[in-house]
Amino acid sequence: MGAIAQQNRVSKTRKRKRRSHHALKKPALIACPECGEMVRSHVVCPHCGYYNKKQVKEIKAKAGAADGDK
Ligand SMILES: [Zn+2]
Repeated sequence: MGAIAQQNRVSKTRKRKRRSHHALKKPALIACPECGEMVRSHVVCPHCGYYNKKQVKEIKAKAGAADGDK
């Protein structure tokens, strides 16, 4: 128990072939038709809260927006 032994060595080529599928994909970005920011497709825009030409989410003004709150 606990003894771990390597059974078969995987060649460099076989290791690299296996890992050839491990790359991460870039997110599908589109320009938001409302605010023009690059946003992920099929996701409510985090900048203006619009989806399918309707506002579906309230966006709180964050730092960088013009409000003299803080
Ligand atoms: Zn937007």
